[in-house]
Order: sequence, then C-alpha cells, then structure tokens
Amino acid sequence: MLYREDKKGNRISALGFGCMRLPQDDREKCGRLIDSALKSGINYFDTAFMYSGNEELVGSLLGRYDRGSYFLASKIPPALCFTKKDFERIFRIQLKRLGTDYIDYYLIHCLSDYSAWNRLCRMGIEDWIREKIESGAIRNIGFSYHGGTADFKKLIDSFDWDFAQVQYNYMDEFNQAGREGVEYAHSKGIPLIVMEPLRGGSLTGKLPQKALERLAADNQSAASLGLRWVLDKKEILCVLSGMNTEEQLSENTAIAESAAAGCLGEDEKERIEFIKSAIRESFVIGCTGCGYCQPCPNGVAIPACFEARNNFENGKNHPVFKMNPARRQYLHSTAVLGKSPMNASLCVKCGRCEKKCPQGLKIMSLLEETAEVMEPAWFMIPIKAYRMINSGKKR
Ligand code: SF4
Ligand code: SF4
Repeated sequence: MLYREDKKGNRISALGFGCMRLPQDDREKCGRLIDSALKSGINYFDTAFMYSGNEELVGSLLGRYDRGSYFLASKIPPALCFTKKDFERIFRIQLKRLGTDYIDYYLIHCLSDYSAWNRLCRMGIEDWIREKIESGAIRNIGFSYHGGTADFKKLIDSFDWDFAQVQYNYMDEFNQAGREGVEYAHSKGIPLIVMEPLRGGSLTGKLPQKALERLAADNQSAASLGLRWVLDKKEILCVLSGMNTEEQLSENTAIAESAAAGCLGEDEKERIEFIKSAIRESFVIGCTGCGYCQPCPNGVAIPACFEARNNFENGKNHPVFKMNPARRQYLHSTAVLGKSPMNASLCVKCGRCEKKCPQGLKIMSLLEETAEVMEPAWFMIPIKAYRMINSGKKR
C-alpha cells in the first residue's frame, strides 16, 4: 500500500475504506472485509452518524484491533444540531457507538454552502471543536462538501481545518468543489479525502458499451482508470471506496499500490477523454444515486426513477418480449404494483429534494419527463387496474 501524509504528518493509506456500503446484514462478511482491508495496509475507515447501524458495526469490527493501528473517520449531521449542546450529545453517542474515546478524523457532514457553516458558528461550533481538539477527543477536524466552488473556497478560509472531503472523479472535474477548489485547498495546505471516485458506480459497471469496449481493447479496468485518475493528483490524501466484496477490495488495493501522484500516463489521459464523451453521449440524467434527495415526503424513489430512466435510454428492447428491460426495473424499483408506490408521477413539486441534490439536478422537471417516458398510458392503465383490484386504493 502507498501512504500519503496529512497536515500533521500521519501516514494515511492512499485507499480508504468507505464503510457506508458494507453488507450490514452479513456481519461475518463485514468482519472478513475489514480484516482483509487492514491486512492489505488500508488504515483509514470512514463512517457517519447518519449511516444507520454503521458506526456500531464499524466500531465493533475495528475494536478487535489495536486502536493505534487505524484511523477512524466519522461525521456529525448539521441537520440534527439546533444548539451547542447537540454537538456534544451527538458526539457522545458516536463515541459510544464506535466504542472509542476519540475520533481521528471528524467531519461536519455534507456542508452544502457557506450559510450552513455560519448557522453552526452561531451555535458555537468553533469553540466546541477547539475544546475537543484540545482534549484530544477529536484529532483532526474537517468537513465533507457537495456545494459549488465559490462556497468551498470560502469554507476553506473560514476555519483552521485539518482536511476536507469532496466528491471528485473525472466526470466531476469541474463540478462541485472541482479542480479549482481542490487546487485552492492544496494551496492553503489542506489535504483532501475523495468520495465518489467512481461516481457511485457509474464509472464502472454502468459505463456505456462504447466505453467498455474501449477499456477491454486497451486491457484496463474501469475501476483502475477511475481510481488512478484521482490518485494521480498530488492534492489528494486518500480515496474512499465503498468496497463490499473481497474481489473489489483486492482489485482496488492492487490499483492503489501502484498509483503514486503523477501516475497517469498520456495513453490513460486520452482514454479518459474518449470515455467522458461516450458517457456524455449516453446519459440522459447525471444522477449518481447518492440518495441525499431522499426521503421525498410523497414517497418518490428519486434515484431509482432516474437509474431506470438512464438504463431505459441506454437499453434495447428484449428480443423476445419486445420490451425494454428497464421498464421492468422501473416497475420493481418504484414498487408501482404495490400498496406504496414510489414512481415519478407522484411528485407534487414541493421542491425539497432539489435543495439537497449535490449534482444540482432539476429533479422536478426531470421527474416530469421521466414520468412521461416511463409511465405511458399503455403501461400504466393495466398497472392501475391491477392495483385497484388488489388493494382497493387509488393513487
Ligand atoms: S419535489 Fe417531488 S420528488 Fe422532490 S421532494 Fe417534493 S414531491 Fe418529492
Ligand atoms: S437526484 Fe441528486 S441527490 Fe438524488 S440521488 Fe440523484 S444525484 Fe443524489
């Protein structure tokens, strides 16, 4: 494993373990994954208060190892903080869940703009952080971010941060904090943790055929190209990957072991440009499936609707049944036949989701379009009839 140094000289593995996607219903499997990760030299593990059940799981699995042999990162949710007391209350719950008396890397979770930080400052978060740093209960303080470049730069300048965490991958070079923000943070001596290096899987398994063919011809995996693009950047301290199989873990470890800053060859840069245009040609909706827009008060499964729509646009009719398989996916993933459907046409345009989307998607109009494409009358009339017969309810 290659290691990079943080602001205080700690050696962090270039590949970090994003624990949110651990298969939590299979504790033994999770244990084996954590064991393999540590064995392969990964020493950075990321969780959050908001990942249901995840802090307890990660804390108990890592608790089998010497506390000094790994770095633990967790996050405080600003949306649940209304007074200074809430910072302490949530932090104590986290320590208990994690089974530790300190957190190595503590983040304000998903700051989306500068005003969100200002709100926390008015509650006294700066003093609270300083107290925690002084007592050693927090070793490094940072924030995770999904807003635009300008506010990211303002946030970087607003406190004595030890690190920050951003979404960064070759499709988002100019989105969110973007290259400008990444370089700005570096110029201020603030190292960055990267999340979504493969854009929620859309830069691996969900690549368009044209891109997959190019990768196969050039004998490089999609994960290798995506992770190497990020690890190539000297501004990056660690790339998080949400690995939930041993195969993913060993592939990503092998990639990170040979990807020092400046690793990307000219041939790979050209390949990335080719793949970027293939993706742009194929995607109708740039949803990463992050789920920040959820829950919708009216029950719309926004990411599921968009994923099915993208697959629909990229799919072909089944040779026998003459129907695009994404229609079936839409039917299942939005429970359109059930008692609590979650399909696009249920959107009442309240606008709550759009404020939370890190990609800045115009969710309401995209859902309207998606409903037109995925819920044509010929498809919905039999479904509505079926639902009425089976549940006696109209929706
Ligand atoms: S705008 Fe539509 S999809 Fe978004 S939260 Fe409101 S009802 Fe749900
Ligand atoms: S619509 Fe936006 S917030 Fe919702 S899953 Fe997609 S990218 Fe994430």
